[in-house]
Amino acid sequence: MKTAARDFPILSRKINGKRLVYLDSAATAQKPLSVIEAEMEFYTKSNANVHRGMNTLSRMATEIYEQAHSKTAKFINAKGMQEIIFTKNTTESLNLLAYSLGEKLKSGDEILLTKMEHHANLVPWQQLAKRKGAVIKFADITIDGRLDMDGLASKAGRRTKIIAATGASNILGTVNPAKEIAKIAKDCNACSVIDAAQAVPHIAIDVKRIGCDFLAFSAHKMLGPTGIGVLHGREGLLEEMDPFLTGGDMISSVTLQGAEWNVLPWKFEAGTPNIAGAAGFGAAIEYLEKTGMENVEGHEKELLKYALKRIGEIENVKIYGPAKGPRVGVVPFNIEGMHAHDVSEMLDRHGIIIRAGNHCAQPLMHEMGIGGVCRASFYIYNTKRDIDALAIAIGDAKKVFGV
Ligand SMILES: *Cc1c(COP(=O)(O)O)cnc(C)c1O
Repeated sequence: MKTAARDFPILSRKINGKRLVYLDSAATAQKPLSVIEAEMEFYTKSNANVHRGMNTLSRMATEIYEQAHSKTAKFINAKGMQEIIFTKNTTESLNLLAYSLGEKLKSGDEILLTKMEHHANLVPWQQLAKRKGAVIKFADITIDGRLDMDGLASKAGRRTKIIAATGASNILGTVNPAKEIAKIAKDCNACSVIDAAQAVPHIAIDVKRIGCDFLAFSAHKMLGPTGIGVLHGREGLLEEMDPFLTGGDMISSVTLQGAEWNVLPWKFEAGTPNIAGAAGFGAAIEYLEKTGMENVEGHEKELLKYALKRIGEIENVKIYGPAKGPRVGVVPFNIEGMHAHDVSEMLDRHGIIIRAGNHCAQPLMHEMGIGGVCRASFYIYNTKRDIDALAIAIGDAKKVFGV
């Protein structure tokens, strides 16, 4: 992992005259040169629309676009390209589900979520519940920041139709037992949905092993471009669902009276897709495969351990999140007597980029009894040197604020 940082052009720039220390990969990851070049190569050599016209360029574009689906399927061990729908991001993937899967819900049906969800895996279900008269229930969080799995199991029942939970928390870093959640859903004939935006980039995900029905994630958090995301769904379930968006590309035939849907996954991909983004996404997956997800995981585990110790040693700094059990490289913290936004601004002066605020999970922040939090998050290009820089800058910020 020592050479990883060199592959990321942005990491050689300076911020306020200081070396850029990027600790906000949970918001979006930086891109290796190979991803940037794949997009540029698409535009310089094969730009055309996909799935139209028997011409060389369209054939090339279609091949690149479809290959990105196959690479994604292989990366998460899905059955094949037919189970991989490209969307704009995790948010759109979950909205698609809330419409297309949610269409079958009836008044009184239940949706089971957790109190740890990103707004993307909460608001679309709230809207669905309003449309259908469905009821939302929430699994609790334990004091140490894990899911209360017994509580979750006890809240699932005969009326539960959908169980949607995050695979890994974007604030606490907690990795949830997706396989157990999928099993609980299966046992009560509900569909399981995993928000894997924070899981797929950091841990090896095998959807066959997990046994979930649906899994959503974003390319931009796993070294890929913005504007492209994934909804993985079990083929049989996708076949039964009606499309969320309709129009061109997603039909097999149209008359003035109606239309027949195209085959999977195109049935769910209406209109001209993000083809260049797919080219970049394919390169991102290749980069992660070459690195090896077990190495990504191992590297982050080591950094996390070091950070928890190094930052944890600083007086009047409180770190949140589970002390034990699986956790991705996310360190949420607050400095006593300092607002998170002030901390973030002070760190920026040192060239250190973190995130401060409610991190699109206001109910979780409420549950934790805090208004905001600083979050340092890691990826393959980070080093212990970055964490040392963070620790030094935190010390300096405390001095300036006299806390
Ligand atoms: C980032 C994130 C999302 C939303 O991803 P977008 O790419 O912004 O749609 C959803 N859930 C979790 C856990 C996230 O970290």
